[in-house]
Amino acid sequence: MSYNGLSVLYIDWEFDMTDPSLEKKFKQRKSALLEKAQAIRKDLSKSVDADFAEQVTERENDEVLEGLLAETNAEIQTIDRALKRLEKGTYGLCTLCGEAINGERLSILPGADHCIKCASQSDRRV
Ligand SMILES: [Zn+2]
Repeated sequence: MSYNGLSVLYIDWEFDMTDPSLEKKFKQRKSALLEKAQAIRKDLSKSVDADFAEQVTERENDEVLEGLLAETNAEIQTIDRALKRLEKGTYGLCTLCGEAINGERLSILPGADHCIKCASQSDRRV
């Protein structure tokens, strides 16, 4: 099962809707992601003083890193939205139709904004 590869990001996540530490898990996940983003940015900012061949390799590497960074930032934003919903007591509800999001879906994508029906009707997968 794959939601545009997002499931990979959540593979280590054990999910329980009634878990009072859900917020803590989100925050732990977020700080891990922030650290990851910082490490990627550090890698990206390394000076380019290599010869041409190495620069090409470095640029390809940078593209991979930029992709990773974008992915990481997207997940951070997803977690921020989920934390806001937890605060408001609307966590687990679809932000489009207001229906409860399927538990199995949440176990794969704890930060899911939309129920499977709304997600499949748009390009958005989270
Ligand atoms: Zn919905």
